[in-house]
Amino acid sequence: MLINPVEFFRSLPKKECPQCGQHMEEQAESYLMECDHCLSKKEN
Ligand SMILES: [Zn+2]
Repeated sequence: MLINPVEFFRSLPKKECPQCGQHMEEQAESYLMECDHCLSKKEN
């Protein structure tokens, strides 16, 4: 069974960072899965 990842995450009641579990502000235009903190760590 294939699930469109975009639809999957849009269906979640709250957006949560999979790395640290921190709740994130819902951003309709953003498909980022991780919070700013974890994303900034990745870029370094
Ligand atoms: Zn995080």
